[in-house]
Amino acid sequence: MIRTVAQIWHRRCVLPAAMVMLLPCVAVASLNIVSHYSPRNRERPVRRATDFIILHTTEGPKAGSLNKLHANGEAHYMIDEQGKVYRIIHRNRVAFHAGRSMWEGRTNLDNRSIGIELVGYHHRDITAAQYTALRELLAQLQRIYRIPDERVVPHSMVAYGAPNRWHRQSHRGRKRCGMLFARADVRRRLGLGRGPARDPDVAAGRLVSADSYLQQVLFGEGGAQNLAAAFFSGDEAMVVSAGRSAWDIAREAYNQSSTTYVFPDGTRRRGNEIRDWGRIPPGTKVILPGLVEDNRWEGVRVLGKDGNTAQELAGGEYNSATTIYILPDGTVKTGAEMRDADFRSMQQGTMVLARYEYAGEVTRRRSAFDICKARWNHAGTIYRFNDGRIVSGNRVDERNIPAGTKIFLPQ
Ligand SMILES: [Zn+2]
Repeated sequence: MIRTVAQIWHRRCVLPAAMVMLLPCVAVASLNIVSHYSPRNRERPVRRATDFIILHTTEGPKAGSLNKLHANGEAHYMIDEQGKVYRIIHRNRVAFHAGRSMWEGRTNLDNRSIGIELVGYHHRDITAAQYTALRELLAQLQRIYRIPDERVVPHSMVAYGAPNRWHRQSHRGRKRCGMLFARADVRRRLGLGRGPARDPDVAAGRLVSADSYLQQVLFGEGGAQNLAAAFFSGDEAMVVSAGRSAWDIAREAYNQSSTTYVFPDGTRRRGNEIRDWGRIPPGTKVILPGLVEDNRWEGVRVLGKDGNTAQELAGGEYNSATTIYILPDGTVKTGAEMRDADFRSMQQGTMVLARYEYAGEVTRRRSAFDICKARWNHAGTIYRFNDGRIVSGNRVDERNIPAGTKIFLPQ
């Protein structure tokens, strides 16, 4: 009955996007929904297209997750374990939830998607209340934006990673976020039909698959899919073994200071203190910060910290025109402009951005907005200040971008 009312209501609601925005369109009693808009909400541009709904798991408890998502505007909605829905960014505006992402060759899916965070974990089932709430929210959003079931996808299906120590090519498998939402049984309970049957970017060779287990859960057939999902549920999953590297466990957080490694002899090291990744002994425990995926930017690597050669930092693309080197004195060069001798004599502290372009320098007459238009405050946009600080676009204070600041944009 409620569904029917909602359907009628939404049929009347098919209006131009600008008008829809003015209407209190989501007003159905069956959803327990509250507005808890991020301070970032009003500055976010209105999306021009909405082709996807991307489902995330917070990988941490409610309070911390809500604080972070709210402060940074990193989701449109969050659904807690009781089924309460929080609006964080208006559904017509851009939220920074997908990070480095690609589907069918199109990148930066934040510009074409709605992001919903479920309080929970990628390998555990959500609560019955979350099923009810998510099912209703999806039904409403799919009607409003005319999004077919196969465009309702887990974050892990569209996220991809830049080259790293384990994978020299751009790869699928950067995250396992929201993985359970690929499972046929979970989708059925949400009223969703099948998701995509295969990964178009891996099929076309744009990406390689870096996580066969994830691939199995995302695209495997029924039985195999569930078996794979059940496999990853115990604590043994957090211990390095012959078949499980540090990267398998920690993913992009493997070399972060927030990730702790406890060696079999009891020694503890932080991810950024480890140099020799080939020598992590089996039995080493990996402790992740627990709280929440970080979509700000994964882009900046530092020589001497994240690796010791250009190849280690940027993989096979180290000498390409879209790999940017920021030398300690602020000089900017692309990989294509560097000579062999430059690579050999690269100084510690040189920063590397893979798949970026140098957009320009702020001057008295040329503001950050002039240089990158609406992208000036995007999470992936990177500012380098004269004092060497690196700040991402969603953290930058627009009143305080002095002349000489350099700006880099993701490709
Ligand atoms: Zn996610």
